[in-house]
Amino acid sequence: MPSIPTPSTAAPGPAKPRRRKPSASAPATSPGAAAGEDATPGEEAIPGEDAIPAEPSGATPEPPSEPPSEPPSEPPSAAPGAPARARPDAVRTRSAVRTPGPADGAALLSWYDRHRRALPWRVVEGRADPYRVWLSEIMLQQTTVAAVIPYFERFTRRWPTVVDLAGAEDGDVMAAWAGLGYYARARNLLACARAVAARGAFPTTREGLRALPGVGDYTSAAIAAIAFGETAVVVDGNVERVVARLLALPVPPKSARREVEASVAAMLTERAGDFAQAMMDLGATICTPRNPVCALCPIAEPCAARTEGEPTRYPVKAEKKPRKVWQGVAFVPVRSDGTILTRRRPERGLLGGMSEAWGSPWGDAPADPFAHAPFGAPWRPAGGVTHVFTHATLTLDVFVAEVGEGAATPTGGTWQAPAAAGLPTLMKKVVERALGALG
Ligand code: SF4
Repeated sequence: MPSIPTPSTAAPGPAKPRRRKPSASAPATSPGAAAGEDATPGEEAIPGEDAIPAEPSGATPEPPSEPPSEPPSEPPSAAPGAPARARPDAVRTRSAVRTPGPADGAALLSWYDRHRRALPWRVVEGRADPYRVWLSEIMLQQTTVAAVIPYFERFTRRWPTVVDLAGAEDGDVMAAWAGLGYYARARNLLACARAVAARGAFPTTREGLRALPGVGDYTSAAIAAIAFGETAVVVDGNVERVVARLLALPVPPKSARREVEASVAAMLTERAGDFAQAMMDLGATICTPRNPVCALCPIAEPCAARTEGEPTRYPVKAEKKPRKVWQGVAFVPVRSDGTILTRRRPERGLLGGMSEAWGSPWGDAPADPFAHAPFGAPWRPAGGVTHVFTHATLTLDVFVAEVGEGAATPTGGTWQAPAAAGLPTLMKKVVERALGALG
């Protein structure tokens, strides 16, 4: 029975879940028009915790054992009962709390020097490699640190420089990316690598970086700060959460973008790259979504949410739109040599350019499922597979059939061993379901 490998997600140390919200676009009534998982090329949303449905397994960070250099000077007040959203005046209650400033930035850097996470794209001394910073930042969009590390290490082993990556075959890169999701990132990754190789090196300014394919406001700021030391304000989901708590923001941080950036800028006076990573680390290991450890926080003293006594009231959540519900069918013919029939999805749209099982478009349930089969065969139902995209939940009814070696190959189809097909996670689930039904 052919088996489908699943990438390892094990990773050392505390993980930093970082998510990036993709741009919403048209519903997936056809695969080519589908969107929701993929980011729109050239656009970028801020990586944020809001998109995380649940804390990933094993990602619970361990707080440092050392106390902060400046412990909180006052005990928390009694916890208010009403939800944060119901208290639009909450930010005004911090009259007794001073505004975060350069001294807090210095305390944060001091903490970072002792407690920074060891991550494979970081350097302790000297300037970081822009290729590794860029690659890690692209991979980390909407993906956890734990999931990214094995991919990052495989990519940098196979393509040690941006020139190596620029010379890679598209199919090899897409296959190596399989399982990381948000496949527009992989396409932009290649386009960006080729643009950088063509110009000879990464641009060294935020503005120059912003012009590269797939590099938006956040990523350009992160690379400029971390790799080139530019004094850029870097705000990802972790940083949004920290600042929302520091200020006891009464609105979702994305609605108070200027206030969030101004607060970060007020603390940032030196070592821009380290400062950016220190804020990220603080959010990932101390000021976590559900269990902030204020007693160990190096910037607890000016924190309004801590003073209020219930930091997890912040950040105030934006109301979420309900997910769409899509349906479809997938057909997996299996030859006696164990190969299955796959095809390549259109380049643009959801899972663009990835291998998939034959089937219907995703949207309304197909009126005649077998009209979408690759050919006539003794199809039997193998059950359903449900997959959650950012903006939609898709359920595919899977059909499987054993066919002879001489089975037809429809236009655009390829017979491949499942493990060699570079299937994205959804399609791995489809094929596993089909092969499981064969017994
Ligand atoms: S909520 Fe606690 S951990 Fe977060 S910034 Fe404030 S004091 Fe630090």
